[in-house]
Amino acid sequence: MAPMFVPGPVDVNEDVLKAQTKAMLPHRSKEFEEIFHRSEEKSRKLFFTDSRVFISASSGTGLHEAAVRNLVSGKMLSCVNGAFGKRWHDVALTNGKLADKLETDWQQPITAELVAEAIKGKNYDIVAVVHNETSTGLMNPVREIAAAVHAASPDTLVCVDAVSSFSGADLKMDAWGLDMVLTSSQKCLALPPGLSLAAVNDRAMAKAETVENRGWYFDFVRLEKHRTADSTPATPANSLIYALDLQLDRILAEGLENRFARHCAMAQRAQGWALENGFGLYAPEGYRSQTVTTLENTPGVNVGDLNAFLLKRDMRVAGGYGHIKSHTFRIGHMGELNLDDLEILLAAMEEYLAVGHNAA
Ligand code: PLP
Repeated sequence: MAPMFVPGPVDVNEDVLKAQTKAMLPHRSKEFEEIFHRSEEKSRKLFFTDSRVFISASSGTGLHEAAVRNLVSGKMLSCVNGAFGKRWHDVALTNGKLADKLETDWQQPITAELVAEAIKGKNYDIVAVVHNETSTGLMNPVREIAAAVHAASPDTLVCVDAVSSFSGADLKMDAWGLDMVLTSSQKCLALPPGLSLAAVNDRAMAKAETVENRGWYFDFVRLEKHRTADSTPATPANSLIYALDLQLDRILAEGLENRFARHCAMAQRAQGWALENGFGLYAPEGYRSQTVTTLENTPGVNVGDLNAFLLKRDMRVAGGYGHIKSHTFRIGHMGELNLDDLEILLAAMEEYLAVGHNAA
């Protein structure tokens, strides 16, 4: 495997890749329904929820759309401190929804206090917040945000994008009072891209039933009708579901707390290394991501040259994203990677830095 230290798509285990090559089954067959059923049941454990999980043949952005189409009839609040919070807000506006924006400097977290202030007297349908901003390497305190929303505005639903933290950093849907949590397959789940998962609780389902123009493909009410029959309204991504079924077994065998600890150890090492080697960290202390590190490129490393050097050893890192692209780059440490893999990357990066920036 050629380790990709990028925040998705990430390397996929060989057996999981192979699982996709199993023969197709008709999706309305008993055999497929069984696979679908157990995949959904196992997925719930990763969300730490007893609620339903919709398995969608789309990437995570589709579920940004699902959230606003199903849950917003009046107005929503978009929390924006990175490129993906901004995208969710744009998705809301382009779907014709009314959305206010709570935006901070991208180097600052969205705090519970900021949200409490922003929702005062507003009665928003939902507050949409990204748990782990993949652009900035910053984790927002969604547990505290959810508590603040429920205290100030009990009918407001809390919707969380956990695309790049799900199964890599602690997130407990039911215990934290999250009403909808969405994720994509190609990040910490370490599956190929193309699948996304949304856990939706009963409060959110009750709201969806009252919202008009939910569309067809992502309509929660339609999805639920089929899910209870272990199926989907449209053709599912069979091969990806075969892979999901196996990968969920692998993840549950590792244990979620062990998995979180593995990601945490990699984050601490990557972030310590960055500071020791003359780089800055884009996100502030206390809010740094467990799954992706965004480095301030203080030494002015040419990331293209660095990657050319790393690629000779079958590794790569990721460039910056959004408007911070020119002065940041990212080390993804998620999915199948472990500390030993990271040490190999960091040693190679040190070698690159030692021989100067023309080593490619
Ligand atoms: N949200 C976050 C935090 C992301 O990192 C990404 C993609 O990188 C998305 C949403 C969009 O997900 P997808 O590319 O699966 O549509």
